[in-house]
Amino acid sequence: MAAPAVLTHMALSPGIRFQRLDALRLSAGFARLPAAFHTRLPPTPLPAPYLVAGSADAAVLLGLDPELIDHPDFPALFAGNCLPAGAEPLAAVYSGHQFGVWAGQLGDGRAHLLGEVESAAGPLEIQLKGAGPTPYSRFADGRAVLRSSIREFLASEAMAALGVPTTRALCVIGSAAPVQRETRETAAVVTRLAPSFVRFGSFEHWHAQDRTAELRTLADHVIDRFRPALREAAQPYAAFLTDVARRTGELIAHWQAVGFMHGVMNTDNMSILGLTLDYGPFGFMEAFDAGHICNHSDHTGRYQYRAQPRVAYWNLYVLGDALSPLIGRPELVKDLVDAAFPPAFEATFMQSMRAKLGLATAREDDAELIDALFGLLQAGRADYPLFFRGLSQLPGTVEPAARGRVDAPVRDLFLDRPRCDAFLVRWRARLAAEGSVDAERQAAMRAVNPRYVLRNWVAEAAIRRAREGDFGGVAEVLTCLRRPFDEHPWLAHYAAPPPDWAAGLSVSCSS
Ligand code: AMP
Ligand code: MG
Repeated sequence: MAAPAVLTHMALSPGIRFQRLDALRLSAGFARLPAAFHTRLPPTPLPAPYLVAGSADAAVLLGLDPELIDHPDFPALFAGNCLPAGAEPLAAVYSGHQFGVWAGQLGDGRAHLLGEVESAAGPLEIQLKGAGPTPYSRFADGRAVLRSSIREFLASEAMAALGVPTTRALCVIGSAAPVQRETRETAAVVTRLAPSFVRFGSFEHWHAQDRTAELRTLADHVIDRFRPALREAAQPYAAFLTDVARRTGELIAHWQAVGFMHGVMNTDNMSILGLTLDYGPFGFMEAFDAGHICNHSDHTGRYQYRAQPRVAYWNLYVLGDALSPLIGRPELVKDLVDAAFPPAFEATFMQSMRAKLGLATAREDDAELIDALFGLLQAGRADYPLFFRGLSQLPGTVEPAARGRVDAPVRDLFLDRPRCDAFLVRWRARLAAEGSVDAERQAAMRAVNPRYVLRNWVAEAAIRRAREGDFGGVAEVLTCLRRPFDEHPWLAHYAAPPPDWAAGLSVSCSS
């Protein structure tokens, strides 16, 4: 890599360790594992790479001066055309269940792990997605298209800003190189960051071959590097399964509360650290429908919104089965998952929904209020983010005669206004019962109910501009999503429900 020019103005925020691109140094992360776990190979260079978008927040997380995103050497570095010092690029092997069926060996078919950086938040592994074929590509090309790369980039940063555990995205690098999908598109590489990209399927891979030594090596790697406290437990591997089940329960509760749909909850897309992983045909709930299927290729609706908790639960049983040789008592595995997942899901979901409703205390009949809420949303197909943001504006009391005006931000989302009014009466009674103070509650509600989520039409609009070489749309959307609770008045159009042109948008697995 050519030596970068000296930068004239540097952001001297604390935690910035790399003020020059050539100062970035990686050490071995997943590469510490023995040869059976991966294949070492360099990324395939991407012709004439250019910057599409970068996340200053992700750069800071990595310890990288965010101004370096605009450095002329940045695109080549994060396209995989040249490597940072210490990089040991590799593709990891894993297996998994896809749509409930054992799929056998999969692996990083288009992702290269480069190595890790010791960040302020602990180790962060850098991965390039779309950087060329690997031995696990099977019949595919190892590339990712600009469209899906922009979607993954924006969604990763949006979820982080919403407080949902997720892998992060540093940047999207584009190229004119053609990639064939349903139509001819162009290639892009997303740089993803996570402490680890190990999946449930990484464990299934070894269990399926009865290779208990490798299974143990992998579990020890994850425990020692990321969950050292579990070593203190009487049975560390049982504690490990419990930990994954608890974190997965919390994760899925966050998804349900923010209205995130993953779209492909195969076990190879489930993070062992409880992070949202592998953004493909995901969606954010707009017109509420608990049966919404965001993945056009999911013909049976296996991964529809309402199914996500139950699918995660099933996936945890699969993981438990894979870990059973280490836990020693196969009959215990189901009990461990049953003891950890439902309460973690329930507690986090209730806590999140109470916060969204502006409730500061917990009451026994809150579950009924929340059921009534989802019944109302479902019947009215109300826009999910607009509903909660609207609710955040409403006062705790209203004269019946003034309802039409005062409650309009919520009420006007429904054709059946009386049903909405009935819910609001119940909600206000609940607020009164805890002595809720309007200004405080409204501020608290605005801090948990986003003005901006990554609506499909918003992503599509940014993608269409990017295809024409105008990356301003991606930058604008990122501005909204990285601070989703702020108003951003000049970008308010991105908070709107889908315009007419977007009515028929669908998202397939193709990426
Ligand atoms: P996904 O459904 O995106 O989670 O991918 C499932 C499997 O297919 C993983 O092993 C991916 O690495 C692999 N895969 C998906 N797309 C490609 C591609 N374009 N080239 C190579 N492998 C791919
Ligand atoms: Mg995947």
